[in-house]
Amino acid sequence: MKIICIGRNYALHTAELGNDVSRLSEPVFFLKPDTALLRNNDPFYIPNFSSRVDYECELVVRIDRLGKCIDRRFARRYYNEVGLGIDFTARDLQRRAIAEGLPWTAAKGFDRSAAVSPQFVPLSELGDVRDLHFELSVDGEVRQCGSTADMLFGVDEIIEYVSKFMTLRTGDLIFTGTPQGVGPVVRGNNLKAVLEGRVLLDFDIR
Ligand code: MG
Repeated sequence: MKIICIGRNYALHTAELGNDVSRLSEPVFFLKPDTALLRNNDPFYIPNFSSRVDYECELVVRIDRLGKCIDRRFARRYYNEVGLGIDFTARDLQRRAIAEGLPWTAAKGFDRSAAVSPQFVPLSELGDVRDLHFELSVDGEVRQCGSTADMLFGVDEIIEYVSKFMTLRTGDLIFTGTPQGVGPVVRGNNLKAVLEGRVLLDFDIR
């Protein structure tokens, strides 16, 4: 399986990282390897190669059907459940790579950098994927509040775009981008993420 991640999909987050939203005409995506998965609300250990790891809470879509060159009108047939994830980012490594015009694979794809909720919820229970609310709290304080209505590229558009380039398979995960409010984690933090009133992520930083 592969983990597909969308960058700059919420205007206010794009702005908080100092990027220009207006220039974006197509979704930006990158991959994490399957070794990046962090499951079952296991603790996240801050890696020693970074002095600034940020959390990015995101809605995660699980693909449940093989597909290629999927038209957005039919994209909804390719997923049924969504969960939440944290796209952990070694921001210092990423900034250095960007400054040097190099890929930021290490900054995004390191081991356990993709926390995924143990539970995925059927959309039949949640409603329209274009109108879901989620939030992340750190030590009980809300830091990120997202609504999928604010995505610059919706889930179906993302599926259409990504599947032009690579085949989607059952089990592939799509991290759909993070809303504003990203910030660093420190040892001892507790991260809790809620999707439409359901606590899906609840784990510690070590
Ligand atoms: Mg992200």
